Amino acid sequence: MRTVYVNGDYLPEDQAKISIFDRGFLMADAVYEVTMVLDGKLCDFDGHLARLTRSLAELDIPMPMDVAQLEAIHRELITRNKLDEGGIYMHITRGAHDRDFLWPANLTPSLVMFTQARKCIDTPAAQRGISVITAPDIRWGRRDIKTPQLLGAALAKQAARLAGADDAWFVEEGLITEGSSNNAWIVTEDGTLITRHLSTHILHGITRAALLRYAAEVQLKIEERPFTIGEAQSAREAFVTSAGLLVCPVVQIDGHPIGTGKPGPITQRLRTLYIEESRKAAR
Ligand code: PMP
Repeated sequence: MRTVYVNGDYLPEDQAKISIFDRGFLMADAVYEVTMVLDGKLCDFDGHLARLTRSLAELDIPMPMDVAQLEAIHRELITRNKLDEGGIYMHITRGAHDRDFLWPANLTPSLVMFTQARKCIDTPAAQRGISVITAPDIRWGRRDIKTPQLLGAALAKQAARLAGADDAWFVEEGLITEGSSNNAWIVTEDGTLITRHLSTHILHGITRAALLRYAAEVQLKIEERPFTIGEAQSAREAFVTSAGLLVCPVVQIDGHPIGTGKPGPITQRLRTLYIEESRKAAR
């Protein structure tokens, strides 16, 4: 049984409780972050804290405590749960109050954190690559704020499963926005990496940002711009990035094989590069 954190207490997971009036529960009035843990250390944690701070500020939810305290809870959960490889989920809501669209001043935010042990490095998805379907992007207009309004993503993932695929890429006005829980990339014939530019249409992935830095350091050509389904299907390689999947090859889009239909060499090189650099920088 895991030890989880809820509003000041470390508890066995079956004793953790939040109010039914919590606005995170009633309205998804909340933000979250998922940080990867490798070798018992936090990866890209400063990036996750920076995005959390920005998400909270955009929604005018106060920081429940300073970032050093948030980090201390992360470390305590790693220790108590003996977490070597996996993720830590952190969820901050605006707080609990009788149901109303409007919120009163001075609500106390709720803070929940828990660990999830799982393999990140040696996974079948990384070895074989994943297949994706495309799905209309029905999500709200502020996808740059990391809120737990994840029904659009859940429906798309479920549709993918029913179609025999692993995941979905969202499409808006003929252009790929991002994966249902990851950022989407393609590699062109001449080896250029393409991923959509930052805007309110996509989540500003922490893994995406780190990979852009690492790829620039090894002189890869990069273009941050939208791309079409057709462009993706005729790409040399395709892949996704997230704190859960790291850099993961995409080998099929809507049943159409990408490149050779197997994980490509550029994606594999980027995955190795990302894992090496993350291990070095993890703390
Ligand atoms: N886009 C969406 C919609 C996501 O849910 C995620 C995962 N949180 C990402 C992109 C990737 O972000 P990160 O690299 O920070 O995990």
